[in-house]
Amino acid sequence: MPAASLPRRRSSDQVGDVAVVLGTRPEIIKLASVIRGLGRRARVVWTGQHFDAELSDRFFDGFGLPRPHLRIDGVGGTGRGAQIGTMISAMDRLFAADTPHAVVVQGDTNSTSAGAQAAHYRGAAVVHVEAGLRSRDRAMPEEINRQLVGVLSDLHCAATPRNAANLVAEGVSPERIEVTGNTVVEAVRESMPTPGAARTVVRRHAGAGPYVLATLHRPENTDDRGRLAQLLDELAALPVPVLLPLHPRTRARIEAFGLSASAGRLRMLPPVDHPEFLALASQARLLVSDSGGVQEEVTVLKKPLVVVRNSTERPESVDAGFATLVRPGPLVGSTARALLADARLPARLAATPSPYGDGTAAAQIVAAAISLADARRWSAVGRVPAPQQVRPPVGRRASDRAAVAAAA
Ligand code: UDP
Repeated sequence: MPAASLPRRRSSDQVGDVAVVLGTRPEIIKLASVIRGLGRRARVVWTGQHFDAELSDRFFDGFGLPRPHLRIDGVGGTGRGAQIGTMISAMDRLFAADTPHAVVVQGDTNSTSAGAQAAHYRGAAVVHVEAGLRSRDRAMPEEINRQLVGVLSDLHCAATPRNAANLVAEGVSPERIEVTGNTVVEAVRESMPTPGAARTVVRRHAGAGPYVLATLHRPENTDDRGRLAQLLDELAALPVPVLLPLHPRTRARIEAFGLSASAGRLRMLPPVDHPEFLALASQARLLVSDSGGVQEEVTVLKKPLVVVRNSTERPESVDAGFATLVRPGPLVGSTARALLADARLPARLAATPSPYGDGTAAAQIVAAAISLADARRWSAVGRVPAPQQVRPPVGRRASDRAAVAAAA
């Protein structure tokens, strides 16, 4: 074998030696460009965490993604421990039979946690996309998932310098961190319909006048009857109609708590696909949401957002002026009304850059994951790559170092 060529691909490489683990709607949205960029190197593992077809199959199709190489059944609707345990067992069998060189996980879901654990226990390199977010709120399952995955990761793809600084503060070596931006920027650009198509979507769902677009699904807003009822009332009292694409979890809670009459004062829709959601968001006067991804998307769409949460792991959206964090309660309505009344806000946001990068995150993540997988492949055959095959070391870019130091 010539010194410059890679070791021969194993049979496993036919299904790709870089596994991408995902199981929820936001993971599909944010990893679609990474899966496409990996091409034949990708091995897609669908954990089934979002078992509702409205949140899964439809999104796979919408992003033109290949069918998953592994689908895990039977995890939807179970508790956290059982869910993560079932996922790890299924992935462990897959990774034992054919160990990937690297495993890419995204964000902070149970699937992220299970994917990172299954990869680490079988010796595959863990690549964490959207690494280093911290709310410091241990009551949020997502915060625990993030911290756990942070411990297991070999490469941390941080969306912002602040995320990277969080990791450095926890003792992660800067050489294992790459500041890439967030793939949500390219997801918004790719999914956004043409202006004509967006107008058609808006006319169909909202008619001609101004409206607010809301999404709610986090346990802190939906698991307590009184809190959910108050939130629905606050939204219904706003001076413009509120569109609410209903997450299946929220729909189930509204029915179980007997709140259908309150919710009926809002314009409820089934969950919409990503292009439709972006069309509605881009024309809304204001968004109200407890979503993580929506906090990022408004910075690309240049829209104001009320974040209904006790804490946020995305302070960049708040600091840049796009998002206002409000605890669930009576301030939601008054804050929304103040933002709706601020006539200068749209121009100010239109001129504010997104803190989540320039739309090249996926390309950077793909290059870094392939580089790491290739390094693992070389070391598996006991050889070192020729110098021209070695990518500049991750985390050593001067711009990364300066940005992380400034954010620390
Ligand atoms: N979204 C969508 N259709 C909807 C509601 C949301 O496509 O009806 C998208 C939204 O644009 C964002 C993502 O779903 O990209 C957010 O997902 P979710 O709020 O479920 O999860 P989180 O981001 O909070 O983890």
